[in-house]
Amino acid sequence: MSVKLSDGRTIPIEMHKVRIVQKTSLVPSSRRLEAINEAGYNTFLLRTRDLFLDMLTDSGTNAMSDNQLAAMMVADDAYAGCESFYKLADAVKDVLKFDYTMPVHQGRAAEHLLAKVFVKPGDTVLMNYHFTTTKAHFELAGASVLEIYTPEMMKTESTQPFKGNLDLQRFKDCIKKFGPAKIPFVRMEATTNLVGGQPFSMQNLKEVKKLASDNGIMLVFDGSLLSENAYFIKKREKGYADKSIQEIIWELMEYVDLFYMSARKSTSVRGGMICTNKKEYYDRLLDWLPVYEGFSTYGGMSTKEIEAMHVGLREMTDVAVAGAGPEFIEYFVQRMLDAGLPAVTPAGGLAAHVDAKRFVTHLPQSQYQAGALAAAIYIASGVRCMERGTISNDRAADGSDVYADLELARLALPRRVYTMSHIEYVVDRLSWLYKNRKLIGGLRFVQEPKVLRFFFGRLEALDRWDIKLAAAFKSEFGPDC
Ligand SMILES: *Cc1c(COP(=O)(O)O)cnc(C)c1O
Repeated sequence: MSVKLSDGRTIPIEMHKVRIVQKTSLVPSSRRLEAINEAGYNTFLLRTRDLFLDMLTDSGTNAMSDNQLAAMMVADDAYAGCESFYKLADAVKDVLKFDYTMPVHQGRAAEHLLAKVFVKPGDTVLMNYHFTTTKAHFELAGASVLEIYTPEMMKTESTQPFKGNLDLQRFKDCIKKFGPAKIPFVRMEATTNLVGGQPFSMQNLKEVKKLASDNGIMLVFDGSLLSENAYFIKKREKGYADKSIQEIIWELMEYVDLFYMSARKSTSVRGGMICTNKKEYYDRLLDWLPVYEGFSTYGGMSTKEIEAMHVGLREMTDVAVAGAGPEFIEYFVQRMLDAGLPAVTPAGGLAAHVDAKRFVTHLPQSQYQAGALAAAIYIASGVRCMERGTISNDRAADGSDVYADLELARLALPRRVYTMSHIEYVVDRLSWLYKNRKLIGGLRFVQEPKVLRFFFGRLEALDRWDIKLAAAFKSEFGPDC
């Protein structure tokens, strides 16, 4: 929801009351300098006690509703046949219109099962964009991942409302080149996570589905941020302004053969699931479910979380819930633009993104622009964001870096957790950092895992630029900020 003020401004507004809070504190810049050094300049390795605002991710960090919490108290802790599961299956039937529901412990577990059942060595999996865990699982199964996005997606300054659209001509070319038998499925990710949380349009999904089914290719929908994508369709696509989020979701699901989601995002819980109307797909996946996840009525999830999930699934169809993230993110992005900061436009579905290539123009990509910026943001603010750039790509087989298309510092906005004054604080510190951006230097790996290196990799700051940056901050704001 947003409201119009009498001075003409429109601001996002919380459609909820805050009844439970968690204390946070701001450690001084001198401690932040130590902490980021101890963390190997990797924000994943910081401890939360050293954070003021945690904008690392919107995954499993959202505020649950009172009804979700209440539902957790009545969970049915049965190994098999648990009632909590049947409530989830009913919610899936109502909200998504799928007959078969399979809980899994989180989104990547769904990807693991999909890879196991549908992906063969030598296959090519097509998608509008990859997610880190998605790519890892499909590549481990011996396939390659090919992203067939439109050129607009890689423009960080844009007014294109649906940068997450799949390029239909490239899809046709791929079908010709690889042959449908070598394409296990085309995957559409709702609000492409790694490239600014950008949605695709209903029209695009419809056309992708037509091409896919004409060629006997399955359409897989990653709905981790389903309600946000539906919200953008309502706001940005012609003909949908008067439709409810639920109606838009129903229409989206008409084009889907197999749906999966990380429940950690739109539904504000910790879990995941796979859904379909094709019994054959369900049966093939079911063979592996007990091996990796658990019995079909809990699938690796806590039954308490299953309870919170069926409530969360229904609640995300409320426009005030679906729009809670996007509206505050839009405000966040607008305030960054007002301050002259290089924010990614248009605003996306899970975070505000800073374009590091336009922020630290003096650094080469080989020195990890987005990683360096993320470390600098922490020093200047106590805010933790996430690198979404070259560090998030693993090396090529020959050991060279795979330069990311975009170098982004991603400031995620966990749903219903932070307020407008938090956003104002971040924008202020980002502005200070932008003025002092020449103090930000590069990073170099000192310890590097082979797969998903961004999680545990450790780096060093070249020439210890971080010391000078922290000193400049302290001389301006004093020792306590
Ligand atoms: C988070 C996410 C995943 C992975 O889910 P986890 O619950 O973190 O394992 C997959 N796809 C998308 C689009 C995501 O946002």
